[in-house]
Amino acid sequence: MNSQDEEEPTTTDNNGSTKHEEGQVSDMSGTSAAMDKVAAAALRSVLQRVSQAAEKAARGSQQVRVVAVSKTKPVSLIKQVYDVGHRCFGENYVQEFIEKAPQLPEDIEWHFIGNLQSNKVKPLLASVPNLDMVESVDDEKIANHLDRGVGNLGRKPLKVLVQVNTSGEESKSGIEPSGCVELAKHVSQSCMNLQFCGLMTIGMLDYTSTPENFKALANCRSEVCKALGIPEEQCELSMGMSNDFEQAIEMGSTNVRIGSTIFGPRDRMEHWDVAYEFLKQNSLRTHRNLGIIIFTFATAQMFALCLQPKRENECSRWWKIYFQGIDLG
Ligand SMILES: *Cc1c(COP(=O)(O)O)cnc(C)c1O
Repeated sequence: MNSQDEEEPTTTDNNGSTKHEEGQVSDMSGTSAAMDKVAAAALRSVLQRVSQAAEKAARGSQQVRVVAVSKTKPVSLIKQVYDVGHRCFGENYVQEFIEKAPQLPEDIEWHFIGNLQSNKVKPLLASVPNLDMVESVDDEKIANHLDRGVGNLGRKPLKVLVQVNTSGEESKSGIEPSGCVELAKHVSQSCMNLQFCGLMTIGMLDYTSTPENFKALANCRSEVCKALGIPEEQCELSMGMSNDFEQAIEMGSTNVRIGSTIFGPRDRMEHWDVAYEFLKQNSLRTHRNLGIIIFTFATAQMFALCLQPKRENECSRWWKIYFQGIDLG
């Protein structure tokens, strides 16, 4: 399952990938070449921690895939981690993804881990032929779009995970746990160009997770496997990020998504993500309320027109007031 290789290839000379964008490495003294090795060293330490956690849980480290989450990070830095043998990377913004992926080697196994809108499916599939997995399928509509998109391109089936909202927080993407069986069934039985591979969760709204989130995802897996009649080993659990991947592995994760611990802290996102989710949720609410008000008013108008009273009628005066304002003359 693992594609990374902890040994540094001897032939690597890091050509073209040595210039650093600002803010990457702070105050380490030494040559720029040494500074460029920071992400590679961080990866190595992550892989070590992963294999220790796997051992502790009596599982092999080959059973846990490490997705290096490179969102917001420059191509040069991704190349550095690629050059020490890592092949699995994750991105979560389509626009950024389709700009970066074509500049990087084709043997990268890309995971898309972000919110996917149906109008972005086509550009995503077209720009990233080496897209290996979409971890964030959370409704039938997006599954159908992906299925059709892959079919039209005639590429090999696309692996997908069903994203589950295990925190109960309203605005987070991901399907409710109660809906995961139905969606998993839909993907595996009605989407011929998709390969259902398991379940994914982010955890809480602030991108942290609790043991309850991990347990909830494992419970979903039990139900899904029972319903589909497949062994649990055939259903992956993508859970655990920089701050909690060891615990996630001990609780059964097969796929950890690790960003900041490998690539360093991000300057943007996260807080913006949360703010964006908040705005989206609230502006949706505002739109809905506006819609209700306009609909109610329009309906009242229609009724008033239909029920237009005869001239002499007592109601006629009120009707006139309603439609023509205070014009009692
Ligand atoms: C950014 C991101 C991660 C990585 O988060 P870190 O805490 O930096 O490891 C993992 N999963 C998803 C879906 C993300 O968007």
